[in-house]
Amino acid sequence: MASKRDYYEILGVGRDASEQDIKKSYREAALKYHPDRNPDDDVAEERFKEAAEAYEVLRDDEKRAMYDRFGHDGLRQTGFTGFTGFEDIFSHFGDIFEDIFGFGTFGGFGTRQRAVDRGADLRYNMEITFEEAALGTEKVVTFERAGVCPTCEGTCCAPGTYPDTCPTCGGRGAVTRSQGIFSLSTACPHCQGGGRVIRHPCETCRGTGRTTEEKTLTVQVPGGVESGSRLRLTGEGEPGPRGGSSGDLYVVLHVQPHPLYERHGDDLVCTVPISFSQAALGAEIEVPTLNGTERLKIPRGIQSGKVLSIPRAGAVSLRHRRRGDLHVQIHVQTPTDLSPEQEDLLRQFAALSGSEVKPKGKGFFERFKDSL
Ligand SMILES: [Zn+2]
Ligand SMILES: [Zn+2]
Repeated sequence: MASKRDYYEILGVGRDASEQDIKKSYREAALKYHPDRNPDDDVAEERFKEAAEAYEVLRDDEKRAMYDRFGHDGLRQTGFTGFTGFEDIFSHFGDIFEDIFGFGTFGGFGTRQRAVDRGADLRYNMEITFEEAALGTEKVVTFERAGVCPTCEGTCCAPGTYPDTCPTCGGRGAVTRSQGIFSLSTACPHCQGGGRVIRHPCETCRGTGRTTEEKTLTVQVPGGVESGSRLRLTGEGEPGPRGGSSGDLYVVLHVQPHPLYERHGDDLVCTVPISFSQAALGAEIEVPTLNGTERLKIPRGIQSGKVLSIPRAGAVSLRHRRRGDLHVQIHVQTPTDLSPEQEDLLRQFAALSGSEVKPKGKGFFERFKDSL
């Protein structure tokens, strides 16, 4: 952990600074390094956070006393950890910003300016077959998203016209008013802080600079995805306002069930019926797989419910690209609708095995009923 700077040094005040001095210094630092005024400036971001932390400690008598006596280590023991990010600072200082600046927002205090400048993420729901999810596929998707207006190319102005400097703020984007000893800067109400006004808006986009465009993309779906899996296509969402970066497109997958197979991770499970004689004598059968058939040896004397596996006939693994196995659960079918000859043979079989079976023809109760 890098050594932390001294809180008094951060705010540029002496150790005996009054509450008013500390507040004043913090106000200056917060204005100077505010993320709205320093977009994508890491140094400013660090200064802004540092100042917020210093102010949080020095404005509180108890924390300040602890810091004066024991420094940063002493504070940590009280459970004070500083702030994790802007949202943290804004949610904590929402009322303090108001208190210090005398107004709630300019350019969006409490909102994340970066998120505003980035385009929106889009969601596309895609249905795919069981086989496509297991083995992977390529899909073409067509969707609508906001695009830059082709007429004005995003300038929002009618062709041949340009924005004018805002007459209210003279292009500064902010207006200053006095309140007590402070002179306060707020966003210009006329141009909303942009510094410019558009007198002749583009007719195609009604001055928004954006229109809807239809976009077609090819999406690679890797084998091994499941229902609910999301594929992120970076930068394929909506374009950001004022030239900001585009959002992402999230393709959310819905996998259709299969009449034969169930997925268990990378493995597939299915049930295959075999005849009573195949089970007793052994056989070699054809089992349908995701991409063809496989021969499967049924050992002599297999019991119903037994599971045989065909290696590498399952789904592709998302992690290591190898295929899982296909587990075949054997279901022994009892013969029905026997021909007289089949029945005779089975009765002989039963007699040889010493198992008691129902006598041929009608049973006692049927005969009893017939006699009534
Ligand atoms: Zn336009
Ligand atoms: Zn203005």
